[in-house]
Amino acid sequence: MSVSASASASVTQRAGGVRRICICGVGLIGGSFALGLRAAGFDGEIVGSGRSADNLARGVELGVIDRYSTDLAAAAAGADLLLLAVPMGAMRAVLERVAPALREDAIVSDAGSVKGSFAADARAVLGDSLRRVVPGHPIAGTENSGVEAAFATLYRQRRVILTPLDETAPAATEAVAGLWRLCGAEVECLSVEQHDRVLAATSHLPHMLAFSLVDTLATMQSRDEIFRYAAGGFRDFTRIASSDPVMWRDICVANRGALLEVVEELIEHFQQLRDAIERGDATAIHDTFLRAKAARDAHLDKFSRCAE
Ligand code: NAP
Repeated sequence: MSVSASASASVTQRAGGVRRICICGVGLIGGSFALGLRAAGFDGEIVGSGRSADNLARGVELGVIDRYSTDLAAAAAGADLLLLAVPMGAMRAVLERVAPALREDAIVSDAGSVKGSFAADARAVLGDSLRRVVPGHPIAGTENSGVEAAFATLYRQRRVILTPLDETAPAATEAVAGLWRLCGAEVECLSVEQHDRVLAATSHLPHMLAFSLVDTLATMQSRDEIFRYAAGGFRDFTRIASSDPVMWRDICVANRGALLEVVEELIEHFQQLRDAIERGDATAIHDTFLRAKAARDAHLDKFSRCAE
């Protein structure tokens, strides 16, 4: 056997035997998954699907996918693995469209940012075959969207969280984990509830803050002046407010329970800080900043690995 043939055999093994992948939603997340696999030597077939033929044709041009169909069921037929990388609000409708066309043993995974709602969608549509369902979420991303934004190294040294259901077959989880590891990711498993609680705090809340801050300033009369003098700190803090509004609208709705809990906690803390400022209470203000700085400095390494 030639060196490249044996290398390819080991890639196939690491991919859990998966040879044909269908990615529904070839944007930043789905496209980067395909490019990451290709960069690792995955030589199976990658089929794309989505609503817009233009985006998918561009995906073929860029070498992200091998072929595509805007007929979601036709694209998914015959796949060993289906990865859904569409906005959370589209997951259930997409599952309903593709379910009748899926092979009985096809693994179904997703890359959505909220796991409780995907698990509920999968239960509703694939209730009798949950052994093949592996919910997942790469903790990596940028504020850009569409296939043009995809790149092969997005998942390198990033975490991917899988939240297998009680019914999920370990072999299906292992196959999905193997594919993400080929992309360079570190894979960890959490429960659906743990995932949604943690991500509400570390990802969803910061996005709400950034969107809300920019929206607040944009409605002020002196907004032109405010934005003209916005410096590096403001740009850094608000970069994520340039993220896709549809995607984040869907995340807010899908994870509203866990998100509301952290929003309430933040409002309480913010109120305390506001009151300390009103009193001119330098000690209380300083203590807050000191605690925040110590916490951030202690966890900087972990934070820098969670880019979403
Ligand atoms: P994206 O770049 O906008 O890609 C989404 C893709 O889904 C597009 O190619 C879009 O193509 C397709 N799509 C949208 N609605 C559809 C529908 N109803 N039916 C079929 N296809 C549809 O978004 P993304 O950033 O890759 O996000 C995809 C998923 O990953 C989301 O669930 C998000 O929560 C999750 N995620 C995002 C990040 C991040 O930082 N961006 C990180 C981790 C996880 P057409 O418009 O052509 O159909």
